[in-house]
Amino acid sequence: MYYVPDGIEKCGFYECGDCGMRFLDVQIVPKLVCPYCSQVADMEIGLDDEMPDIKESAELLQILEDEDIEKYDTLLSLAITGGDYGWI
Ligand SMILES: [Zn+2]
Repeated sequence: MYYVPDGIEKCGFYECGDCGMRFLDVQIVPKLVCPYCSQVADMEIGLDDEMPDIKESAELLQILEDEDIEKYDTLLSLAITGGDYGWI
């Protein structure tokens, strides 16, 4: 498992409105701080738009359970390494 611990029963599937990144998180909340956007902010890489505040730009798309978690985790991990967003 890449995003969430093994054996977890429920997690949230999120998409960031800013960077478009999709990810899983054990927290299930309507909105979440995107880990990718906040990472970029941490490293202080200059973007075209200044983003001084880390906002909750990722929205919950779906709640996943049991085997769906593993399926999405695998697909999303592959999407990151392969850069392929056409699977969903
Ligand atoms: Zn983001």
